[in-house]
Amino acid sequence: MSLIVQKYGGTSVGSIERIKAVAAKVCKFRQQGHDVVVVVSAMSGETNRLISLAKEIQKNPAPRELDVLVSTGEQVTIALLCMALMELGQDARSYTGAQVRILTDDAFTKARIQEIDVDRMKADLQAGRVVVVAGFQGVDEAGNITTLGRGGSDTTGVALAAALKADECQIYTDVDGVYTTDPRVVEKARRLDRITFEEMLEMASLGSKVLQIRSVEFAGKYNVPLRVLSSFQEGPGTLITIDEEFSTMEQLVVSGIAFNRDEAKISVRGVPDQPGVASRLLAPIGEANIEVDVIVQNLAADQTTDITFTVNRNDMNKARQVLQKVADELGAREVVADDTVVKVSVVGVGMRSHAGVASTMFKALAADNINIQMITTSEIKISVIIDEKYLELAVRSLHTAFGLDKASA
Ligand code: ADP
Ligand code: ASP
Ligand code: MG
Repeated sequence: MSLIVQKYGGTSVGSIERIKAVAAKVCKFRQQGHDVVVVVSAMSGETNRLISLAKEIQKNPAPRELDVLVSTGEQVTIALLCMALMELGQDARSYTGAQVRILTDDAFTKARIQEIDVDRMKADLQAGRVVVVAGFQGVDEAGNITTLGRGGSDTTGVALAAALKADECQIYTDVDGVYTTDPRVVEKARRLDRITFEEMLEMASLGSKVLQIRSVEFAGKYNVPLRVLSSFQEGPGTLITIDEEFSTMEQLVVSGIAFNRDEAKISVRGVPDQPGVASRLLAPIGEANIEVDVIVQNLAADQTTDITFTVNRNDMNKARQVLQKVADELGAREVVADDTVVKVSVVGVGMRSHAGVASTMFKALAADNINIQMITTSEIKISVIIDEKYLELAVRSLHTAFGLDKASA
């Protein structure tokens, strides 16, 4: 007998019919003799709906109150799922994050889990119940409701699996696994049987929202066996695994293509080329809590330099304001911002031992006449910033160039 933590995403609990289907699925696992802890998201669209309600009142909603508001989405689905389980004769109990006591820090809207009390869940399991926990939420030391950032139910699932020492954490969603790239964008995307934690972490960080980044970090850190599966069809899904378990024979150099549409580019042009300039420009950005991603500096012939970097689109206007002030102090020529760029990345642990990935990438983009605005690399990824209008074309071309297309049916 094993203990399984199953997380069902928004689409999987998007209607009463679907909630009933989830209940039936959970009962099947119970009948096979497994203990089951279920984590659910809010019904699809609900979190967005709640956020827009808040924004009708406050342009930048008060974070503490926003968390009180958005956490209600998951409170609805835990109760409905328990009712559906009971209708099938399966005893079940629902818990909010605070009731379990998923203790987090007090960073509203992006809290981190610190500790999970497993006693109550264990007692329920012992009594033959299914435990249903609200994803995405916790409580801070002072008793305030917190949430874990968009997509945070994945993290709740993995964190519960780690705390309960579950045999597996299963993430049920609307695709049947992790694909070489978003199957909604590239029809020829292939499901991967396995992917390493490291690659999955890069894919998630670079924009593949199939798993929240933190859930992958957690799973890697606590070595939680993690699988992504479809709620709607049977199948093996994708196992997220540690590197050594891979047979290098079948391993591709590039395992996936990720992309992120939430990018914006800001350039400060004509800055005097002196030591300390980059730090003078970037320090206030950090102080404003804005994350900077790709950074490029180029030197002009006239002893001035241009510094360009990317930020999240939501932060672009704030970043521009902050920068304009320092740019004026430094006597820079101008600050320009552009929110029509995207980031496309190729990811693969195989890059460590294979040369030529960058040239294959750049050649494929050049063949489609796609101009590369910025480039950044790490050991297992190469990212480029390009015009957003070429996103789909670039992803499809790279998918083909790296031999990822599935054999046509
Ligand atoms: P859930 O509501 O179940 O958490 P999400 O919408 O958060 O589901 O994540 C599933 C979606 O992630 C898929 O519908 C798919 O469009 C998208 N996605 C992006 N990149 C990938 C990828 N590499 N593999 C699979 N799905 C991906
Ligand atoms: N409901 C939350 C969201 O939409 C958390 C989740 O679904 O994982 O972001
Ligand atoms: Mg999700």
